[in-house]
Amino acid sequence: SRPSFIAGNWKMNPATLEEAVTLAQQVRDGVRLDSPARVAICPPSIYLERLDRVLENSPIGLGAQNLYPEPKGAYTGEVSAAMLNAIGCTHVILGHSERRTLLGETDAFINRKLHAALANQALLPIVCVGETLDQRDAGQTLEVVKGQLEGSLAGLEADQAPQVTLAYEPVWAIGTGRTATPEQAQEVHAMIRDWLAQRFGAAIAARIVIQYGGSVKPDNARDLLAQPDIDGALVGGASLVAEDFLKIVEAAE
Ligand code: 13P
Repeated sequence: SRPSFIAGNWKMNPATLEEAVTLAQQVRDGVRLDSPARVAICPPSIYLERLDRVLENSPIGLGAQNLYPEPKGAYTGEVSAAMLNAIGCTHVILGHSERRTLLGETDAFINRKLHAALANQALLPIVCVGETLDQRDAGQTLEVVKGQLEGSLAGLEADQAPQVTLAYEPVWAIGTGRTATPEQAQEVHAMIRDWLAQRFGAAIAARIVIQYGGSVKPDNARDLLAQPDIDGALVGGASLVAEDFLKIVEAAE
C-alpha cells in the first residue's frame, strides 16, 4: 500500500531566515527517525540552500514551491529544476492555486514544469489541483479537477506516474479554516484515483500518493487521513508551527 506523505508548504513564510532555520530544526528534531510517514518541508526558495544543511542526514525531504521549465537562459527571476536539485531539493510543488490565480499559471505551463522536474531524475513533483467555491456550488468540481489532471499530466508515461504526488486542494478550503469534510475530500480523491486508473491502469493508480490540502490542522488530520484514498496532506498555515505540523505527522503514522 501507499506510504503516507505529509508536506509543509511554507508559502512566503517565515519572514526571516533565522526563524526558518529554527522551524526546520524543530521539525527535523521532532520527526521520529523510524517514522513510517514520509515528511517534507517546502520553504521559500531563498532559504533552500541553508535549510538543506539543517536537514543533512535527516529523512526529511526538501521541496521548492515552483520551478521554471527551461535549463537556463533569459528568464529573469526564475530557477531551473537542475538548480533546485543541485542545492539539495528532493521535491517541488507545481500548480498551487495561489500561483494559478495570482500569477496566471495554466495547466499547459504546469505540464511543462512537470516534465522538467521529471527529466531531472531526483526532483519529485507535487501537482496541485482543486476547484473554487463557485465551481463547487455550480456542481462542476469533478469536471474541473479532471480538466486540471488532463492538462497538467499530459504526456506523463505510466512508468513515471508513481513519482508524481497529487494534491487535492479545494481553493475554498485554503487558508480559510474551512476544511473539506473527510467525505467531501474522499469523494474527489476517489474520482482522481479512478481517473488515474483509466489513464495508467489500476496497479499504477494504486501506487500514486494523493494528498489533501486546505486548512489541515492537528484536530482534523486524523479523520481526513483515515479515508481510503487520502494518503497524506499538504499543510499550509499549520506547517509554520512545529508542534502542530508534528502532530499532523503523528496522525499519519
Ligand atoms: P492552509 O493549510 O493554510 O489552508 O494552506 C493549504 C495549502 O495551500 C497548502 O498548499
